[in-house]
Amino acid sequence: MAKNDVATAEATAVKCVICKLGETRPGTATITLSRDGTTLVVKGVPASVCANCGEEYVDEGTAARLLRTAEEAARAGVQVDVREYVAA
Ligand SMILES: [Zn+2]
Repeated sequence: MAKNDVATAEATAVKCVICKLGETRPGTATITLSRDGTTLVVKGVPASVCANCGEEYVDEGTAARLLRTAEEAARAGVQVDVREYVAA
């Protein structure tokens, strides 16, 4: 089968589902999580950011980690906290 460079390029550039115009680029996001009366703001979260509208996309592993962090904060009785994202 012949190599198809165009298809490969399209597969790696993700179109934004919100504005359907921009493509996502690697960046960081500030994510706000609310859980059981706890509000947690996490800065510096690795994310793909739409070049057009700024919509932020966090991958599954990062999202799961953020949820665990929010659950731990809720158990610790934290009401509001601002944190820097800590990679696994
Ligand atoms: Zn967009």
